[in-house]
Amino acid sequence: MCKTLPIIDDKILNRARVEGSSMVEIADRYIAAYFRDIRRLNILDADEYPRVTEHIPAIQQLIQALEDKGYTYAVNGNVYYSVRQFADYGKLSGRQLEQMQAGAGGRVDSNDPELKKQYPFDFALWKAAKPGEPAWESPWEPGRPGWHIECSAMIRARLGEAIDIHGGGGDLVFPHHENEIAQSEVLTGQPLANYWLHNGMVTVNGEKMSKSLGNFTTIQDLLDGNWSEYPQPIDPMVIRLFVLQAHYRKPLDFTKDAMIAAENGWQTLKDALMLDWQQLNLSPQMPIPSELDAESINRFQTAMDDDFNTAAGLAVLFELAKSLKREFNLRCYQGSPERTDMQLQQRLQTLIHLTQILGLEVQSEPSPEPEIDVGWIESLLQQRQQARREKRYAESDRIRKELQMAGIIVVDQPNGQTCWHQ
Ligand SMILES: [Zn+2]
Repeated sequence: MCKTLPIIDDKILNRARVEGSSMVEIADRYIAAYFRDIRRLNILDADEYPRVTEHIPAIQQLIQALEDKGYTYAVNGNVYYSVRQFADYGKLSGRQLEQMQAGAGGRVDSNDPELKKQYPFDFALWKAAKPGEPAWESPWEPGRPGWHIECSAMIRARLGEAIDIHGGGGDLVFPHHENEIAQSEVLTGQPLANYWLHNGMVTVNGEKMSKSLGNFTTIQDLLDGNWSEYPQPIDPMVIRLFVLQAHYRKPLDFTKDAMIAAENGWQTLKDALMLDWQQLNLSPQMPIPSELDAESINRFQTAMDDDFNTAAGLAVLFELAKSLKREFNLRCYQGSPERTDMQLQQRLQTLIHLTQILGLEVQSEPSPEPEIDVGWIESLLQQRQQARREKRYAESDRIRKELQMAGIIVVDQPNGQTCWHQ
């Protein structure tokens, strides 16, 4: 699995200008915040976190290949992709160019007054640098990649010509993913991805979440109790459950009521997991596959095989939790069990197994922040410098990642020096 990290774009460049810092510093800060959030939410790491700034040659090669095949044209140092050359353009979003033309003027890249494109939906593969912007030498003008090409190039560099699953927000179907397809498929002649998984957008009380509406909240705010709608720390597992209760392709509506409902749901699961099973000579041990409740497992799998219908999958967990609690009470207070010991053990193990699959974990008290070992960091950084000098980039990437896992962010300065922070 591969997750791309912040791209070189106008927002990052603007922020760097406003703060008087660099694009890399801004990106690193957001990357660090991203990792903090995903750790707390129990989200597994991807195998690769490719960065655009480390793939400039791969990006340029791809643009060159498109140029060689006649899919591009240049205007004032910008290189554009000519979408009318790609017969399948629009196939992912189900759009046709002729129908889109009406009203297209000004919508696509309208914030760039310098554009003199031949056609409104053509998009930039390479942008000539404006004064003060970071720029890379190139076969064209010094400049930077357009943002669509970055994904196509990093997919190609890290995963190969075609991939099985491509994810992303529903707002990226057009034009971003359409453009990725156009760039990649004309060169490979095969589908870029076998499946496209597009998640629905987050809304707040039915409205789009946005800075301008003032209803903007971060994961960190929710976890730390700084959400004005419901100002108390929310268990990360509650947020997981809240997300899983909706189908990923549907909009996810954040409301106080939905959050309370998710809290109750998590409490139900947690109660069942934390009952004093030892009292009944049962133990919440690690699940053994051959000893699980086959019927529940089948239903869960069927739900998940149906385009990840996590809501239906969760229903199986809730049923198990409720039946476990009922059986526990029967045994402890009334003495007439409905199920055999084996069935009960199977159900308990199945609930543990399925909560683990969904990444729902009863978390123990947070462990204290580990002391940082400066000597260890410095020696890794030296090894990384060495690797970079010898152009062993896979190794330097690996070291950066190792440090990132330990919460250390490595920042390469334009002067060739490297510094780090937590
Ligand atoms: Zn992309």
